[in-house]
Amino acid sequence: MLVIGGGIIGLVTAWRAAQRGLRTVLADPAPGGGAAQVAAGMLAAVTETHFGEETLLGLNLASARRYPDFAAELTEASGQPTGYRACGTLAVALDSDDRAQLRDLHALQQRCGLDARWLTGRECRRLEPLLAPGVRGGVWVEGDHQIDPRLLAAALLTACRRAGVTFRHSWARRLTLAGAGDTREAAEHADGRRATGAVLADGARVAAGQVVLAGGSLSGRLAGLPADVVPPVRPVKGQLLRLRVPAPLAAAGPFLSRTVRAVVRGGQIYLVPRANGELIVGATTEELGWDTAVTAGGLYELLRDAHEVLPGVTELELVETLAGLRPGSPDNAPLLGPSRLPGLVLATGHHRNGVLLTPVTGDVLADVLTTGELPPYARPFTPLRFSPAPAPAPATAPARTTANGARTPPPYDTSPLAPAGPAPAPAPDRPAPATRPTDAPRSRKP
Ligand SMILES: Cc1cc2nc3c(=O)[nH]c(=O)nc-3n(C[C@H](O)[C@H](O)[C@H](O)COP(=O)(O)OP(=O)(O)OC[C@H]3O[C@@H](n4cnc5c(N)ncnc54)[C@H](O)[C@@H]3O)c2cc1C
Repeated sequence: MLVIGGGIIGLVTAWRAAQRGLRTVLADPAPGGGAAQVAAGMLAAVTETHFGEETLLGLNLASARRYPDFAAELTEASGQPTGYRACGTLAVALDSDDRAQLRDLHALQQRCGLDARWLTGRECRRLEPLLAPGVRGGVWVEGDHQIDPRLLAAALLTACRRAGVTFRHSWARRLTLAGAGDTREAAEHADGRRATGAVLADGARVAAGQVVLAGGSLSGRLAGLPADVVPPVRPVKGQLLRLRVPAPLAAAGPFLSRTVRAVVRGGQIYLVPRANGELIVGATTEELGWDTAVTAGGLYELLRDAHEVLPGVTELELVETLAGLRPGSPDNAPLLGPSRLPGLVLATGHHRNGVLLTPVTGDVLADVLTTGELPPYARPFTPLRFSPAPAPAPATAPARTTANGARTPPPYDTSPLAPAGPAPAPAPDRPAPATRPTDAPRSRKP
């Protein structure tokens, strides 16, 4: 079995597969890297509830329930901490419009039967005394916890090694296929073909009975993928910053005891306190293609809003500024399970919930790889929901469109788009704008 991609999703898949006795190879030039090096690590099944995403909510809750046992098992298997903290989350609002928005979210949470309690501003400040006096109300969610994604990735890496996973520190350059010929027409369709492994950037061929594509936001760019199985995954940029509470301030008591999320003039912000004294402030959501620049504007907006919610934030030391790419999908839900191409399984598109969804993804993929089928609770997340109906091969190779309407690069071997590094050039038919389009919203999400 070959896993392409060693972010947290590829790693958890490889770990669980090896535990089930599958001979597992993982290809990634830098396993343990990816979006987890940037992510805040909120396990926000309830506070991340969105209108129209009730199906995803079920999977998020299933993963959140697994987290305590998963974190304990991973620490046992790796001998390393994960930074899992059962601290709860307080979501607050500043002005009356923000409060109305939070009230709507709370009503949705209640309709979904979730454990979320409305608090007055005073009750919020009783929980977190350093909140601004202007906080008008909030929602206390006792069950939304956090983990440190960097520790999670490091522990998964060690657990994989101990379970016998073989690492190939190289890009998978091209998927190899058996079946129909290697013509442009055949490259359009999965029909009559099967994934057989991959050619790596170092020239080696890895043969595999099953290939799992877990390449995060790069998943759609693997050369050799027939056009009708290219996953409609796109990069969604997020910027955040890491602060540290200085020792004298920390000695006076906890700066924050739990994750605080806030609606500030319609935008969202979060502050995640780590056990080691760091405070994560995030995050922007920007549709800018492969751009991973940290911008003054992005950081200014985060700090400005954080200061309104928690005025003391400007006393903290700035440790690091970061930008990363979430693997976004058209319906914000992951693509899990067999694709239209026999032998090719997808584990991608986890978007803003990849850290939260790590435990359940490992279980789902282990089932798929050993039984060939998705467990019932994961069936809504089949990649087939985006597959076009089978069609006869066209005479020529026109530009292709994915289910979300984005044009995709051609998947032929000669494509210059096979990944050559962590920040590839934009596809020629979908250039990343140099600056944020003026009409593009910059909301804040995990
Ligand atoms: C700012 C920000 C904040 C976030 N906050 C949260 C949060 O609070 N909670 C939460 O649950 N989630 C959060 N997320 C989302 C979460 O980080 C991602 O969903 C998750 O990390 C995706 O993991 P992945 O393994 O699918 O992809 P990635 O992390 O992108 O990893 C993909 C890996 O595949 C490799 N790869 C790609 N193509 C190839 C190839 N051809 N050959 C070999 N290797 C390849 C890459 O090198 C990379 O290592 C956040 C993300 C960001 C950016």
